[in-house]
Amino acid sequence: MDCIFCKIASKKVPSTIVLETDDLVVIKDISPQAPVHLLVIPKRHYATLLECEDKTLLGSIFEAAKDAAKDAGVAESGFRTVVNTNEEGGQTVAHLHMHLLGGRQLTGRMG
Ligand code: 5GP
Ligand code: ZN
Repeated sequence: MDCIFCKIASKKVPSTIVLETDDLVVIKDISPQAPVHLLVIPKRHYATLLECEDKTLLGSIFEAAKDAAKDAGVAESGFRTVVNTNEEGGQTVAHLHMHLLGGRQLTGRMG
């Protein structure tokens, strides 16, 4: 499948991976909108949140975001978790992912 996040999750395309489990990777966003801008990407392809009915995986995505926020040092200061869905939700990559944003007051596209 010609999906950039499938390729990143399978390491066919390089990225900066900060955390990995059997089911997902957490990478640095290539175009950060905050000092800490990570993406939690499941290894299995779901085009959007709507298509994923795997509650265990959805829970794992939140758990990974918590762990990555702690590792990045923004857990106490604060962070946001965002899942954009479909066009008017601002989704540009059609592979389910969660943004983790932290490090300062956020402005711009994700603000
Ligand atoms: P969306 O707009 O779909 O919610 O978020 C997609 C995010 O993926 C954007 O923040 C964009 O910067 C990021 N992104 C797109 N392509 C790549 C890539 O090849 N590598 C990385 N690390 N991030 C990407
Ligand atoms: Zn994919």
